[in-house]
Amino acid sequence: MSLPLEYPVTLPNGLQYKQPSGLFINNEFVKSQGGKTIDSINPSTGELNGSVYAAEKVDVDVAVKAARTAFNKWKYVSGDKRGDLLYKFAQLVERDVELINAIEAWDSGKTKEQNARFDVAEFISVFKYYAGWADKISGKVIQNNPKKLAYTVHEPFGVCGQIIPWNYPLLMAAWKLAPALAAGNVVVLKTSEITPLSLLFVSKYFVEAGFPPGVVNIISGYGATAGAALASHMDVDKIAFTGSTATGKVISQLATSNMKAVTLELGGKSPLIVREDAELDQAVKWAAVGIMSNQGQICSATSRILVHEKVHDEFVKRFVAHVKEAYKQGDVFDDQAVVGPQVSQMQYEKVLKYIDIGKKEGAQVALGGAANKAAGKGFFIQPTVLTDVQKTFRVAQEEIFGPVVTVSKFSTDEEALEIANSTEYGLGAAVFTTNVVKAHQMAAEIQSGMVWINSSNDSDMHVPFGGVKSSGNGRELGEYGLETYTQAKAVHVNIGTRL
Ligand code: ADP
Repeated sequence: MSLPLEYPVTLPNGLQYKQPSGLFINNEFVKSQGGKTIDSINPSTGELNGSVYAAEKVDVDVAVKAARTAFNKWKYVSGDKRGDLLYKFAQLVERDVELINAIEAWDSGKTKEQNARFDVAEFISVFKYYAGWADKISGKVIQNNPKKLAYTVHEPFGVCGQIIPWNYPLLMAAWKLAPALAAGNVVVLKTSEITPLSLLFVSKYFVEAGFPPGVVNIISGYGATAGAALASHMDVDKIAFTGSTATGKVISQLATSNMKAVTLELGGKSPLIVREDAELDQAVKWAAVGIMSNQGQICSATSRILVHEKVHDEFVKRFVAHVKEAYKQGDVFDDQAVVGPQVSQMQYEKVLKYIDIGKKEGAQVALGGAANKAAGKGFFIQPTVLTDVQKTFRVAQEEIFGPVVTVSKFSTDEEALEIANSTEYGLGAAVFTTNVVKAHQMAAEIQSGMVWINSSNDSDMHVPFGGVKSSGNGRELGEYGLETYTQAKAVHVNIGTRL
């Protein structure tokens, strides 16, 4: 029996809804041509949440064609009209926010009240924010020679391919869809095969908001098939990707097929430096936010804590006590639970493997260090603190992507910076100090796309987000994020003949 295009779901908190399963192309949910499907597993239980149709190359071709056809008309739609549509879409999501919070929690393993709710709130805000930008995109007039006039037009690329990961199934979609559409592009977005449900459900609001068919296309599918087909497609003008550095490298190569523009937001191993003069309780609080939020599944997580030797022991003592007290682990529908399960069996095994590697390398386990079977039968791992970690350890060099943090000592600022910059990554970095000069000096010396002074992982849609080195290129959010979705066309006007 083939999968129906929509099926009823009753969520663990009693809410009921109809889950679409098709590919969202041309404002309709359609079956994949080959009929292949993907199973979406519940991270809290390891059981099946539901299935969706999986796009293959032929389906990607259909989606790209729909987008291209739509672009031929969409490019004449005014900025204020695009803004209206984006705003309307955000309002529709807001109307059903309780249900969407629950779907996101259920499918991705985020605790609903302490985690998923904030993602959905930001999803809505990002659409409203870029709705405001849609009619404010303008070029420049450039005149050097009085006989010549030149102006630039910031044109959309056309068809944008977007590939997103599973750690923020809705939010990463908002960061990509909203600026692309505001700038006048059309989109084919592929969700992660691990978390396809929430965005597919939300897709129907694009129709209700009044987006023309083909402007937004959302497809589920595997990376090596649908993702690769999108990244290499000859009629896709730009590809934007968030995910692992390894996959980012593959996508960069595939994108050379037609020299499409590429922006990449990749992995990280962000340091958090605690100087001797830091306010220790602030450092403790933010260090926990920086690694335990979202089960540690954040590319910019401050997963390496570097503490001055004079305050190291006190920091570790307070940090462990704080995490134990403030980061309750439990069911995603338990309103008090902060930390949920890892997203999948594969991630669960990977994180446990890294804890084991750390122990073998000589790290001490100051907290956690194992699975948490008491929290549920799904993929729960205890918040874990590894101390006595040397910068060369694999757990200090490689992205673990779980609630596992390493703690190392330093004795001088130079040494702290040297350790901070000693990985291939450069996404974020945090510095805790009460010395304002040192704070800015260290911010300048750290190789990263973002620095947090006396906080960690502050994220604000007005402020650019992105990395350097193997953490990627290009910026998302804010005006910088919008810029990556337009390209300047220079128009030269010869006015010399009239003189
Ligand atoms: P993870 O964060 O689990 O390591 P990946 O970076 O592999 O994830 O995946 C992030 C996104 O990239 C997902 O949507 C996935 O399907 C997609 N993807 C994975 N491999 C490829 C590929 N070879 N080409 C295009 N997309 C891919």
